Amino acid sequence: MGNTSQRSRLVACPKCGRTAEWSTENRWRPFCSERCKMTDLGAWATEAYRIPVEAGDEPEIPPEMD
Ligand SMILES: [Zn+2]
Repeated sequence: MGNTSQRSRLVACPKCGRTAEWSTENRWRPFCSERCKMTDLGAWATEAYRIPVEAGDEPEIPPEMD
């Protein structure tokens, strides 16, 4: 132990588990790649929000506000 001034470290990609480099050069951190990041964010967004983006024929029903 001694040299702890590492400029980067390795982490496991939360999506696929592959080793990803955690550094400022890895813009997808903590993911290993853009694909993993986008896939994860996409799944998260879909489950978290479920925003109906297909607003078309459906009439807009205003929320009842007291
Ligand atoms: Zn990955």
